[in-house]
Amino acid sequence: MRNLSRMNREELAEFIRSGGGNDYEELMQEANRLRRINYDRDVYTRGLIEFTNYCQNDCLYCGIRRSNPNAERYRLTESQILECCSLGRELGYRTFVLQGGEDPYFTDERLERIVYAIRSTYPDCAITLSVGERSRESYQRLYQAGAQRYLLRHETANDEHYRKLHPEAMSPENRKRCLWDLREIGYQVGAGFMVGSPYQTAEYLADDLLFLQELQPHMVGIGPFIPQKDTPFGTFSSGTLEQTILMIAMLRVLLPGALLPATTAVGTLDPLGREKVLKAGANVVMPNLSPTDVRKKYLLYDNKICTGDEAAECRFCIQGRVERAGFRLTVGRGDHVDWRKQHDAVKP
Ligand code: SAH
Repeated sequence: MRNLSRMNREELAEFIRSGGGNDYEELMQEANRLRRINYDRDVYTRGLIEFTNYCQNDCLYCGIRRSNPNAERYRLTESQILECCSLGRELGYRTFVLQGGEDPYFTDERLERIVYAIRSTYPDCAITLSVGERSRESYQRLYQAGAQRYLLRHETANDEHYRKLHPEAMSPENRKRCLWDLREIGYQVGAGFMVGSPYQTAEYLADDLLFLQELQPHMVGIGPFIPQKDTPFGTFSSGTLEQTILMIAMLRVLLPGALLPATTAVGTLDPLGREKVLKAGANVVMPNLSPTDVRKKYLLYDNKICTGDEAAECRFCIQGRVERAGFRLTVGRGDHVDWRKQHDAVKP
């Protein structure tokens, strides 16, 4: 198979355009081999808490964008968030992901309090934040409070493309600045992008792969774009499962130790989507832990799955899917392979 890490932009774009061409089978085998070396058959779990859908941003693709008047807004209280964690811990989760829109209500003080409360109540659990762009000082404070991981998809590494997906007030420079700050502060960082977002080209996907090789994030969230009817992109078509699978396998080869989630969006696109991307090299699942009554309100895209389920149903449904796909659902913090090595190295 051709060496992906030596390819330039044009070569990567050609590889993507041809769907892997003659190298496709070998790519899948290689992705599986590398995942096995780093993570064996383990699939890590994270309990996802969607704690607010208020957002000051206006991303053109996103259903909770500020100017969607049909989004029914909600935010969870600190005690509701802690209840989710309590239930989550009983269900075996040792990582909680707090995700939300960019909600100005959650000032540094309020978020710090929440992070600190989770950390003191559940000292054996990892806390991941996914609350968008903030200042370096803010990231620093939240890290100090006990958040060790941060998910912030770069969305697209191509500046021109970025400006087509976002309003003028948002910039690709700031998005990338955030990612570099998070890395420097010491977070395990997750970047990522949508496959098949409007105006995306194979060259832009190549830019994503090149950027990720430079950033070397611990995690990369990749899911298909799916239209949401109340957004400016409501009539565009979804990304494809085939291209999502290809991008995941390419990333496994380019960043062999990366944590790659099988996202809810891929499960929305195809009933067996998550199983299929696990087989292409993904190794993380993020079942929903949000209270059932708010789930239907966190609608980034149309037809999102699992919005009527209880946390426990999601937990066991995912376990069945992972096992039927030939993997093992792992409880535990699920740290990145390099992080574990570093951590173990400093122990006496
Ligand atoms: N406000 C946080 C969390 C965003 S929502 C942040 O800025 O990081 C999490 C991710 O959902 C986004 O990063 C985006 O890549 C994805 N998303 C949003 N709208 C989507 C859509 N219509 N289809 C697929 N994924 C979408």
